[in-house]
Parts: sequence; structure tokens; C-alpha cells
Amino acid sequence: MKHPFSPIRHDYKPSPTKKAGKKNILIWFIAGLGLPLLAIPLYPILNPLPSNDIVTNDQELAIAMEIKENPAISEPQQTIKANSSDKSREKLDVTLSKISHENSNFHPPLALPPSHDHLTLEIKSGDSLDRIFKRYNLNLSDLAVMLDLPEASPYLKKVIPGDELTIEHDDGDLISLYREINLTTAIKIKKHLSGFVTEIVQRPLEIRRKAAYGTIVTSLFESAAQIGLSDKTVMNLAGIFAWDIDFVLDIRLKDSYYVLFEQIYQNGEYISDGEIVAAEFNNNGRTIQAIRYIDQEGRSDYFSPDGHSLRKAFIRAPVDFTRISSNFNPRRKHPILNTIRAHRGVDYAAPRGTPVKAAGDGKIIFRGNKNGYGQTIILQHGSNITTLYAHLNSFDKNALMGHRVIQGQTVGYVGMTGLATAPHLHYEYRLNGVHRNPRTVNLPQAEPIREEYRETFLASVTPIIEELLQYKQTQVAPLSSE
Ligand SMILES: [Zn+2]
Repeated sequence: MKHPFSPIRHDYKPSPTKKAGKKNILIWFIAGLGLPLLAIPLYPILNPLPSNDIVTNDQELAIAMEIKENPAISEPQQTIKANSSDKSREKLDVTLSKISHENSNFHPPLALPPSHDHLTLEIKSGDSLDRIFKRYNLNLSDLAVMLDLPEASPYLKKVIPGDELTIEHDDGDLISLYREINLTTAIKIKKHLSGFVTEIVQRPLEIRRKAAYGTIVTSLFESAAQIGLSDKTVMNLAGIFAWDIDFVLDIRLKDSYYVLFEQIYQNGEYISDGEIVAAEFNNNGRTIQAIRYIDQEGRSDYFSPDGHSLRKAFIRAPVDFTRISSNFNPRRKHPILNTIRAHRGVDYAAPRGTPVKAAGDGKIIFRGNKNGYGQTIILQHGSNITTLYAHLNSFDKNALMGHRVIQGQTVGYVGMTGLATAPHLHYEYRLNGVHRNPRTVNLPQAEPIREEYRETFLASVTPIIEELLQYKQTQVAPLSSE
């Protein structure tokens, strides 16, 4: 089993019904690219204790950094938002800058002479810098000089609607121009006696650690919503345990979880949740812990405290459970327990159109109509295991007969074709042609942590577990008073 990248990210992306706004795109972008690389050097400087509240120090720090970054801009940089152009961002390497918790370079903002005007403006459709300069009666020859600066011109010749510019000028004569290039860098062009000077300004991200605890009464998602976990973090959480826990059928009343995760801030402003550092899930009497490890190639993965991978050859629930609301009713017996024996499969009641995922890497050996099963896909995994997905409303356009699929890849959509009275996925798992209960069958595990990383992993586990434990202890009191 080769998984260069976590299927979690493929599996548990927010469902397509959720709008991915610019900010969301940005958030995925940061989290996907930057965080794994950032995390290792961060450990020693991260706040050692998790906290529900944002630490005031951090805010002060963020303000200090803000001032440091823009010493000549007298107002705090209120304009930094996550909305600078995605296009320009794609073209530019985001080199995540150092995360600094030091403010030793702190300089008080320089007071500007009162005659200096300060413009913060957003590029409108059809705008060019030329038009903007004319509109605000700014010196066009200053613009011409700036456009000739080799480091600056690529960022000035093309402006994109939505981009923000901050311009300081003295009665139209330019003093400085500031433009965000991407999330972590900006360009600043400043007039000196000798002429214009271009400076690439680093806009450091700051990573804070946060912990959360939830108890499940109805579903993981409802409980997560109650404690204010972001969709991203709850999906990451579910993704980490997807090989051990069937989030549709395994969840029981009072199941609980702890999660220690990162949050990304810039200039004191929350940008997004980052990755999960560690998590614990208490499900139906068993406890599963997961610790993140990032190897030297920057690959991030989760392991049990003793170094076993949480990945397995098959995920437990091959259906996008995020679409299944209220998936647990403590007062009702799971009908499935009675039906497994009868028809040798597992049924997941789900709305029509819910994505159905390949439980493991495999090859499509059947795709078509199969009597009572209706529209069905059968996957072959290795030489002796097959999985079957029945009653599909439709097949995914990329799931073609004979094609290989990877774990978590959508192969079809829930429906009620064949002998079905309501939309559901009927799922079967066969070993050497014999039906097995996919919810309880022993699954081959992925490779444990590589020997070369084992020592550093084990060394990193203790403080993380300790952090989780300290947080748990703070949660014990309210629990026991229930
Ligand atoms: Zn069935």
C-alpha cells in the first residue's frame, strides 16, 4: 500500500454542496501546502499548554509584528485580508516565512508628517494602475518609474480585481506603495532620496495550538458544531479515524473525543484551522489515540503512540457520512445488526446522491446492473478481497470498468436501484469469495512508522500525550458533575 499523500484530504473534503469561497480555497491552500512543512520547527516555540482562549500575549505579539512589517505605515494594517487574488497566488511560490514569537526587532511606528495621505483601495474590474493614478491625481511619472523596476513590475503591470493597494503620497507624489503578493509576502516600493526601492515584505503566519473536547449525543458533526469545531477540523478528525471507526454505524451515545489542533493567525487575525496534532477517540468502550508525525520529506501522517499506522487497507464506512445527518439514535436498535446475517452486507441509509467511496485501493471488475443489486460496482483488492457497492443511483464518471481506483475515491452515488425500498448503499466485503462483516473484519494494517523515524517519533509522542492529558484533566470536572 503506497500512500504518498493522505487520503484524508481526498476523502473528507467538504461536500461539494458547501460553497468554497475564496477564503476557503485559501485556507485549504495554506493547510495543504504550508503547514506540514512548518510544523516541525515550530514545536519548541509553540505555546506548551493548550488553551480555549486566545492568549493575550499573542495578540500583543501580532500587533508588534504588524508594526514591524510596516514601519512606515502609521495605521495598523487593517487591510490584510485573505482575498488577494488567487490567480497571482497560484503563480507564485508561497514561501512560508519564519514564524516568529520574538519581538526583539520591535520598532515603534514612525510618525508621518501630517501632509502625507494614505490611500487603501481595492482594484475594481477594468482598473489598471494607470487609471487609479489618474483617478486619485497621483503622479504618473512616479508610476512610470515604478513600472520599470525589475522586481516590482511583475506585480504592478497586472492587477486583478479584488487586490488591495495601500498608497502613501504627498499631494500626489508617491511615498510608498504596498501590495500583497500572496498570503505570506507583500511588496513595498518606497521612494528614497536616491529613487524607488523595492522591498519584499514577509507576512509571517503564526500558529497557535488549541484543544477541544466533545461528547456525542447524536452525531459527531452535531457535537463538533456545539463545541465550535470547524468543519475542516471535524473532517480531519473523522479522516484520522476512518480506518477504525465507522462514523455512520459505530458511534454510540457518550462517545467522546479530544483533539489538539493548530490554528493559523496572521496579524492577530484568525485565518483558518491547521492540522490536527493529536487526537483521541473513545468509541463504544475502546480508546484510539493518534499522533501526527511529519517526516523529513514533509509527509504528515498519524500513528498510535507506539508507532503503528492508523491507516489500513480498508476504510470502515465507504460512504460520505458527512451527508448523513443524525446518524445515531440511541433509542433505536441498529437495524443493521439484524440484517447482516440475512443478506451478508451492510446497509447505509443515506440521501440519494451521497458519494460512495472505494473502501480500499483496487480495480473495477464490475460496473453495471446486477439483478436485485441494481446498479453495482465491484472492486478487486489484491488477489483475494472484493468489495461490492449496490443500489447506486449512478456511477462516477471516472469509475470505469477495468480502471484502478484509490482508497476514498468516489465510485458512485447512493440510490435505490434494484430491490431497494429507500435510498441506501448496500456494501459487501468478501475474502476468498466468502462474505465477511466489513465492520468487524480484521484489516491488514499499513506499515508502522519507518524505522529511521521511529526514535524521533517516540520522542515527540511523550510531550504531546502529556499536553493532551493535561487538557483532559481540565475537562474532567464538568464531565463528572453531569
Ligand atoms: Zn443491503
